[in-house]
Amino acid sequence: MSLDLTVDGPRWRAHLERTAAEVPGLVPVCKGNGYGFGLGRLARKAQWLDDRAATAREADPDGPGAGRTPVDTIAVGTYDELAHVRTRFGGSLLVLTPWRPFGTAAETRDPRVVHTVSRLDDLEALLAQDPDARYVLERRTSMLRHGMDARDLWRAADLLRRPAARGGRGLEGVAFHLPLEQGSHLGEVQRLMTDVVAAGLPTTTVWASHLTHHELATLRTQYADYTWRPRVGTSLWLGDRSALSVTSTVLDAHPVERGDAFGYRSRTAPKAGHLLIVSGGTAHGIGLEAPTGESSVKARAAALARGGLDAVGFVRSPFSTDGKQRLFAEPPHMQASMLFLPAGARVPEVGEKVPVRVRYTTTTFDRVVVS
Ligand SMILES: *Cc1c(COP(=O)(O)O)cnc(C)c1O
Repeated sequence: MSLDLTVDGPRWRAHLERTAAEVPGLVPVCKGNGYGFGLGRLARKAQWLDDRAATAREADPDGPGAGRTPVDTIAVGTYDELAHVRTRFGGSLLVLTPWRPFGTAAETRDPRVVHTVSRLDDLEALLAQDPDARYVLERRTSMLRHGMDARDLWRAADLLRRPAARGGRGLEGVAFHLPLEQGSHLGEVQRLMTDVVAAGLPTTTVWASHLTHHELATLRTQYADYTWRPRVGTSLWLGDRSALSVTSTVLDAHPVERGDAFGYRSRTAPKAGHLLIVSGGTAHGIGLEAPTGESSVKARAAALARGGLDAVGFVRSPFSTDGKQRLFAEPPHMQASMLFLPAGARVPEVGEKVPVRVRYTTTTFDRVVVS
Protein backbone atom coordinates (compact mmCIF):
# COMPACT_ATOMS: atom_id res chain seq x y z
CA MET A 1 0.00 0.00 0.00
CA SER A 2 3.00 2.21 0.17
CA LEU A 3 5.89 3.88 -1.53
CA ASP A 4 8.86 1.87 -0.33
CA LEU A 5 12.59 2.32 -0.30
CA THR A 6 14.21 -1.11 -0.11
CA VAL A 7 17.86 -1.13 0.82
CA ASP A 8 20.24 -4.02 0.20
CA GLY A 9 21.74 -3.71 3.69
CA PRO A 10 25.03 -5.61 3.20
CA ARG A 11 25.76 -3.66 0.03
CA TRP A 12 24.79 -0.29 1.51
CA ARG A 13 26.79 -0.83 4.71
CA ALA A 14 29.80 -2.00 2.67
CA HIS A 15 29.67 1.27 0.71
CA LEU A 16 29.39 3.31 3.93
CA GLU A 17 32.41 1.53 5.42
CA ARG A 18 34.43 1.85 2.24
CA THR A 19 33.70 5.59 2.12
CA ALA A 20 34.60 6.05 5.80
CA ALA A 21 37.87 4.18 5.22
CA GLU A 22 38.73 6.26 2.13
CA VAL A 23 37.83 9.65 3.60
CA PRO A 24 39.80 10.37 6.78
CA GLY A 25 38.04 12.85 9.03
CA LEU A 26 34.67 12.16 7.37
CA VAL A 27 31.76 14.19 8.71
CA PRO A 28 28.51 12.48 7.67
CA VAL A 29 25.83 15.01 6.75
CA CYS A 30 22.38 14.07 8.13
CA LYS A 31 19.95 16.75 7.02
CA GLY A 32 16.61 17.42 5.38
CA ASN A 33 14.65 14.26 4.71
CA GLY A 34 17.74 12.26 5.65
CA TYR A 35 18.48 11.69 1.98
CA GLY A 36 15.33 9.54 1.86
CA PHE A 37 16.40 7.31 4.76
CA GLY A 38 15.30 9.59 7.59
CA LEU A 39 17.49 11.59 9.95
CA GLY A 40 17.30 9.13 12.85
CA ARG A 41 18.50 6.21 10.76
CA LEU A 42 21.44 8.20 9.39
CA ALA A 43 22.48 9.32 12.86
CA ARG A 44 22.43 5.69 14.05
CA LYS A 45 24.44 4.62 11.01
CA ALA A 46 27.03 7.34 11.70
CA GLN A 47 27.36 6.01 15.26
CA TRP A 48 27.76 2.51 13.81
CA LEU A 49 30.54 3.80 11.51
CA ASP A 50 32.36 5.23 14.52
CA ASP A 51 32.00 1.92 16.39
CA ARG A 52 33.28 0.00 13.36
CA ALA A 53 36.28 2.33 13.03
CA ALA A 54 37.15 1.77 16.69
CA THR A 55 36.86 -2.01 16.24
CA ALA A 56 39.04 -1.88 13.10
CA ARG A 57 41.74 0.10 14.92
CA GLU A 58 41.79 -2.36 17.82
CA ALA A 59 41.76 -5.45 15.64
CA ASP A 60 44.37 -4.19 13.22
CA PRO A 61 46.71 -1.80 15.09
CA ASP A 62 49.53 -2.27 12.57
CA GLY A 63 47.49 -2.68 9.38
CA PRO A 64 45.12 -0.61 7.25
CA GLY A 65 42.48 -0.68 10.01
CA ALA A 66 44.73 1.57 12.10
CA GLY A 67 44.11 4.40 9.61
CA ARG A 68 40.36 4.47 10.25
CA THR A 69 39.62 7.83 11.86
CA PRO A 70 36.80 8.24 14.40
CA VAL A 71 33.47 9.50 13.14
CA ASP A 72 33.31 11.95 16.02
CA THR A 73 31.04 14.56 14.41
CA ILE A 74 27.96 14.61 12.21
CA ALA A 75 26.47 17.66 10.51
CA VAL A 76 22.80 18.59 10.54
CA GLY A 77 21.26 21.27 8.34
CA THR A 78 19.24 23.21 10.91
CA TYR A 79 18.89 23.69 14.66
CA ASP A 80 15.44 22.11 14.52
CA GLU A 81 16.95 18.89 13.18
CA LEU A 82 19.12 18.42 16.29
CA ALA A 83 16.22 16.78 18.14
CA HIS A 84 16.15 13.94 15.58
CA VAL A 85 19.80 12.98 15.94
CA ARG A 86 20.83 13.91 19.50
CA THR A 87 19.92 10.62 21.15
CA ARG A 88 21.11 8.46 18.26
CA PHE A 89 24.62 9.76 17.78
CA GLY A 90 26.93 10.37 20.73
CA GLY A 91 29.51 12.76 19.26
CA SER A 92 29.58 16.41 18.25
CA LEU A 93 26.78 17.95 16.20
CA LEU A 94 27.80 20.56 13.65
CA VAL A 95 24.94 22.78 12.46
CA LEU A 96 25.43 23.88 8.85
CA THR A 97 22.94 26.76 8.83
CA PRO A 98 24.78 29.73 10.26
CA TRP A 99 23.96 30.83 13.79
CA ARG A 100 21.77 33.90 14.08
CA PRO A 101 20.80 35.80 17.23
CA PHE A 102 17.16 34.71 16.91
CA GLY A 103 15.03 31.59 16.59
CA THR A 104 16.05 28.08 17.59
CA ALA A 105 19.73 28.96 17.11
CA ALA A 106 19.64 31.55 19.88
CA GLU A 107 17.85 29.10 22.19
CA THR A 108 20.41 26.32 21.68
CA ARG A 109 22.99 25.82 24.40
CA ASP A 110 24.48 22.40 24.14
CA PRO A 111 28.12 21.46 24.69
CA ARG A 112 27.84 18.89 21.86
CA VAL A 113 26.73 21.48 19.31
CA VAL A 114 29.24 23.21 17.04
CA HIS A 115 27.77 26.40 15.56
CA THR A 116 28.61 27.82 12.16
CA VAL A 117 29.28 31.55 12.45
CA SER A 118 29.17 33.49 9.20
CA ARG A 119 29.05 37.15 10.30
CA LEU A 120 31.29 39.12 12.61
CA ASP A 121 28.31 40.54 14.51
CA ASP A 122 27.09 37.03 15.17
CA LEU A 123 30.46 36.02 16.59
CA GLU A 124 30.20 38.81 19.16
CA ALA A 125 26.55 38.04 19.91
CA LEU A 126 27.17 34.30 20.29
CA LEU A 127 30.13 34.80 22.64
CA ALA A 128 28.17 37.35 24.68
CA GLN A 129 25.32 34.88 25.05
CA ASP A 130 27.36 31.72 25.59
CA PRO A 131 31.06 32.23 26.32
CA ASP A 132 31.56 28.44 26.21
CA ALA A 133 30.07 28.06 22.73
CA ARG A 134 31.91 25.89 20.20
CA TYR A 135 31.91 27.21 16.63
CA VAL A 136 33.49 27.25 13.19
CA LEU A 137 33.91 30.42 11.15
CA GLU A 138 32.50 30.18 7.65
CA ARG A 139 34.54 31.78 4.88
CA ARG A 140 32.43 32.90 1.92
CA THR A 141 33.13 30.93 -1.27
CA SER A 142 32.13 31.39 -4.91
CA MET A 143 28.72 30.01 -3.86
CA LEU A 144 28.00 33.40 -2.25
CA ARG A 145 25.57 31.78 0.15
CA HIS A 146 26.94 32.66 3.57
CA GLY A 147 30.26 33.53 5.08
CA MET A 148 32.91 36.10 5.91
CA ASP A 149 35.29 37.73 3.51
CA ALA A 150 39.06 37.97 4.07
CA ARG A 151 38.78 41.22 6.07
CA ASP A 152 36.14 39.77 8.35
CA LEU A 153 38.46 36.87 9.11
CA TRP A 154 41.18 39.31 10.18
CA ARG A 155 38.72 41.12 12.40
CA ALA A 156 37.47 37.83 13.81
CA ALA A 157 41.06 36.92 14.70
CA ASP A 158 41.38 40.28 16.53
CA LEU A 159 38.12 39.74 18.34
CA LEU A 160 39.17 36.27 19.44
CA ARG A 161 42.32 37.68 21.05
CA ARG A 162 40.16 39.58 23.55
CA PRO A 163 39.90 38.00 27.01
CA ALA A 164 36.10 37.66 26.68
CA ALA A 165 36.64 35.32 23.76
CA ARG A 166 38.83 33.11 25.97
CA GLY A 167 41.61 33.32 23.36
CA GLY A 168 39.33 31.70 20.83
CA ARG A 169 39.17 28.41 22.72
CA GLY A 170 35.71 27.68 21.30
CA LEU A 171 36.96 27.97 17.72
CA GLU A 172 36.95 24.54 16.08
CA GLY A 173 37.93 25.50 12.57
CA VAL A 174 37.12 27.34 9.40
CA ALA A 175 34.38 26.16 7.02
CA PHE A 176 34.08 26.35 3.22
CA HIS A 177 30.91 25.45 1.36
CA LEU A 178 32.08 24.81 -2.19
CA PRO A 179 29.88 24.53 -5.26
CA LEU A 180 29.25 21.12 -6.79
CA GLU A 181 32.15 19.93 -8.88
CA GLN A 182 32.75 22.15 -11.90
CA GLY A 183 36.28 21.35 -12.83
CA SER A 184 38.74 21.62 -9.98
CA HIS A 185 38.17 23.38 -6.66
CA LEU A 186 41.87 23.54 -5.91
CA GLY A 187 42.47 27.09 -7.16
CA GLU A 188 39.58 28.47 -5.14
CA VAL A 189 40.50 26.53 -1.98
CA GLN A 190 44.11 27.70 -2.25
CA ARG A 191 42.95 31.33 -2.46
CA LEU A 192 40.63 30.85 0.52
CA MET A 193 43.41 29.13 2.48
CA THR A 194 45.70 32.08 1.83
CA ASP A 195 43.16 34.29 3.64
CA VAL A 196 42.79 31.81 6.48
CA VAL A 197 46.54 31.48 7.01
CA ALA A 198 47.05 35.27 6.77
CA ALA A 199 44.30 35.99 9.32
CA GLY A 200 46.25 34.08 11.96
CA LEU A 201 43.19 32.45 13.47
CA PRO A 202 43.92 30.14 16.39
CA THR A 203 42.88 26.98 14.57
CA THR A 204 44.29 24.51 12.05
CA THR A 205 41.10 22.67 11.10
CA VAL A 206 39.19 23.15 7.85
CA TRP A 207 35.67 21.80 7.28
CA ALA A 208 34.73 21.59 3.61
CA SER A 209 32.15 20.18 1.25
CA HIS A 210 32.36 18.72 -2.26
CA LEU A 211 36.07 18.01 -2.52
CA THR A 212 37.13 14.94 -4.49
CA HIS A 213 39.45 12.31 -2.99
CA HIS A 214 42.20 13.65 -5.23
CA GLU A 215 41.64 17.28 -4.20
CA LEU A 216 41.66 16.30 -0.53
CA ALA A 217 44.88 14.36 -0.94
CA THR A 218 46.51 17.36 -2.66
CA LEU A 219 45.30 19.80 0.01
CA ARG A 220 46.49 17.51 2.81
CA THR A 221 49.95 17.61 1.28
CA GLN A 222 49.93 21.35 0.56
CA TYR A 223 48.59 22.30 3.99
CA ALA A 224 50.15 19.55 6.03
CA ASP A 225 49.69 21.49 9.31
CA TYR A 226 45.92 21.52 8.82
CA THR A 227 43.32 18.86 9.60
CA TRP A 228 40.74 18.45 6.85
CA ARG A 229 37.16 17.50 7.71
CA PRO A 230 35.15 16.67 4.58
CA ARG A 231 31.38 17.01 5.06
CA VAL A 232 29.75 14.38 2.89
CA GLY A 233 26.08 13.53 2.34
CA THR A 234 25.10 12.42 -1.15
CA SER A 235 28.17 10.37 -2.06
CA LEU A 236 28.08 8.65 1.34
CA TRP A 237 24.40 7.77 1.76
CA LEU A 238 23.46 7.60 -1.93
CA GLY A 239 26.83 6.70 -3.40
CA ASP A 240 25.89 3.15 -4.37
CA ARG A 241 22.53 3.39 -6.11
CA SER A 242 22.62 -0.31 -6.92
CA ALA A 243 21.90 -0.94 -3.22
CA LEU A 244 18.63 1.00 -3.44
CA SER A 245 15.31 0.25 -5.04
CA VAL A 246 12.11 2.27 -4.93
CA THR A 247 8.75 0.67 -5.56
CA SER A 248 5.11 1.60 -5.53
CA THR A 249 2.19 -0.82 -5.21
CA VAL A 250 -0.54 -1.30 -7.79
CA LEU A 251 -3.83 -0.55 -6.00
CA ASP A 252 -6.33 -0.86 -8.85
CA ALA A 253 -6.73 -1.17 -12.61
CA HIS A 254 -9.78 -0.18 -14.68
CA PRO A 255 -10.36 -0.77 -18.39
CA VAL A 256 -11.44 2.36 -20.30
CA GLU A 257 -12.75 2.92 -23.80
CA ARG A 258 -11.97 5.94 -25.85
CA GLY A 259 -14.15 8.83 -24.61
CA ASP A 260 -14.74 7.42 -21.07
CA ALA A 261 -14.56 10.10 -18.40
CA PHE A 262 -12.29 9.68 -15.36
CA GLY A 263 -10.43 11.54 -12.66
CA TYR A 264 -10.89 14.71 -10.62
CA ARG A 265 -11.46 16.76 -13.74
CA SER A 266 -13.61 14.34 -15.74
CA ARG A 267 -11.08 14.17 -18.45
CA THR A 268 -11.86 11.70 -21.24
CA ALA A 269 -9.67 8.81 -22.30
CA PRO A 270 -8.05 9.59 -25.66
CA LYS A 271 -8.10 5.91 -26.59
CA ALA A 272 -8.76 2.50 -25.15
CA GLY A 273 -6.53 1.14 -22.45
CA HIS A 274 -6.37 0.88 -18.67
CA LEU A 275 -6.19 3.31 -15.84
CA LEU A 276 -3.68 2.06 -13.32
CA ILE A 277 -3.88 3.40 -9.77
CA VAL A 278 -0.57 3.17 -7.91
CA SER A 279 0.57 4.27 -4.46
CA GLY A 280 2.68 7.42 -4.28
CA GLY A 281 1.54 11.01 -4.78
CA THR A 282 2.27 14.63 -4.00
CA ALA A 283 2.61 13.93 -0.26
CA HIS A 284 5.56 11.67 -1.08
CA GLY A 285 7.12 14.31 -3.31
CA ILE A 286 5.98 12.64 -6.54
CA GLY A 287 5.63 15.41 -9.08
CA LEU A 288 4.94 15.94 -12.70
CA GLU A 289 7.95 15.38 -14.89
CA ALA A 290 8.77 17.35 -17.99
CA PRO A 291 6.35 16.67 -20.85
CA THR A 292 7.55 13.87 -23.08
CA GLY A 293 9.36 14.55 -26.30
CA GLU A 294 9.81 17.95 -27.80
CA SER A 295 7.21 20.62 -27.41
CA SER A 296 7.60 22.17 -30.85
CA VAL A 297 4.48 22.38 -33.01
CA LYS A 298 6.10 20.05 -35.50
CA ALA A 299 6.91 17.45 -32.84
CA ARG A 300 3.37 17.64 -31.45
CA ALA A 301 1.91 17.23 -34.93
CA ALA A 302 4.09 14.19 -35.49
CA ALA A 303 3.02 12.75 -32.12
CA LEU A 304 -0.65 13.37 -33.00
CA ALA A 305 -0.20 11.67 -36.34
CA ARG A 306 1.14 8.50 -34.71
CA GLY A 307 -1.53 8.72 -32.01
CA GLY A 308 1.01 9.60 -29.32
CA LEU A 309 -0.44 10.28 -25.88
CA ASP A 310 2.00 13.09 -25.22
CA ALA A 311 0.20 15.04 -27.94
CA VAL A 312 -3.03 14.98 -25.93
CA GLY A 313 -1.26 16.44 -22.93
CA PHE A 314 -0.37 13.28 -20.99
CA VAL A 315 2.78 13.82 -19.05
CA ARG A 316 5.52 11.33 -18.28
CA SER A 317 5.38 9.81 -14.79
CA PRO A 318 8.26 8.38 -12.77
CA PHE A 319 6.46 4.98 -12.59
CA SER A 320 7.35 2.12 -14.94
CA THR A 321 5.71 -1.18 -15.83
CA ASP A 322 7.44 -3.86 -17.86
CA GLY A 323 10.44 -1.62 -18.34
CA LYS A 324 8.49 1.28 -19.86
CA GLN A 325 8.04 4.63 -18.20
CA ARG A 326 4.27 5.31 -18.05
CA LEU A 327 2.26 8.49 -18.49
CA PHE A 328 0.15 10.16 -15.82
CA ALA A 329 -3.54 10.04 -16.76
CA GLU A 330 -3.86 13.16 -14.60
CA PRO A 331 -1.61 15.00 -12.17
CA PRO A 332 -0.64 12.95 -9.10
CA HIS A 333 -3.10 12.92 -6.19
CA MET A 334 -2.04 13.33 -2.57
CA GLN A 335 -1.09 9.67 -1.96
CA ALA A 336 -1.81 7.86 -5.22
CA SER A 337 -1.27 8.42 -8.91
CA MET A 338 -3.39 7.54 -11.96
CA LEU A 339 -1.47 6.21 -14.91
CA PHE A 340 -2.66 5.46 -18.42
CA LEU A 341 -1.72 2.10 -19.89
CA PRO A 342 -2.39 1.91 -23.60
CA ALA A 343 -4.25 -1.11 -24.97
CA GLY A 344 -1.88 -3.98 -25.54
CA ALA A 345 0.30 -3.27 -22.50
CA ARG A 346 0.20 -5.98 -19.82
CA VAL A 347 -1.99 -4.92 -16.91
CA PRO A 348 -0.16 -5.58 -13.63
CA GLU A 349 -1.97 -7.39 -10.83
CA VAL A 350 -3.33 -5.49 -7.86
CA GLY A 351 -0.61 -5.79 -5.20
CA GLU A 352 2.22 -5.96 -7.72
CA LYS A 353 5.22 -3.71 -7.06
CA VAL A 354 6.29 -1.37 -9.82
CA PRO A 355 9.56 0.58 -9.97
CA VAL A 356 9.59 4.35 -9.47
CA ARG A 357 12.36 6.77 -10.31
CA VAL A 358 12.66 9.44 -7.62
CA ARG A 359 14.97 12.08 -6.30
CA TYR A 360 15.91 10.70 -2.92
CA THR A 361 16.42 14.13 -1.35
CA THR A 362 12.85 15.22 -2.12
CA THR A 363 10.96 11.98 -1.51
CA THR A 364 9.20 10.91 1.67
CA PHE A 365 8.88 7.14 1.72
CA ASP A 366 6.17 5.35 3.67
CA ARG A 367 8.60 2.60 4.55
CA VAL A 368 12.35 2.20 4.44
CA VAL A 369 13.25 -1.48 4.62
CA VAL A 370 16.92 -2.28 5.17
CA SER A 371 17.95 -5.92 4.90
C1 LIG B 1 24.27 19.71 2.18
C2 LIG B 1 25.61 20.21 2.55
C3 LIG B 1 26.73 19.38 2.46
C4 LIG B 1 26.64 17.97 1.92
O1 LIG B 1 26.32 18.01 0.56
P1 LIG B 1 26.21 16.67 -0.32
O2 LIG B 1 26.17 17.19 -1.72
O3 LIG B 1 24.94 15.99 0.06
O4 LIG B 1 27.40 15.85 -0.03
C5 LIG B 1 27.94 19.88 2.89
N1 LIG B 1 28.06 21.15 3.37
C6 LIG B 1 26.99 21.97 3.46
C7 LIG B 1 27.17 23.35 4.02
C8 LIG B 1 25.74 21.54 3.05
O5 LIG B 1 24.69 22.37 3.15
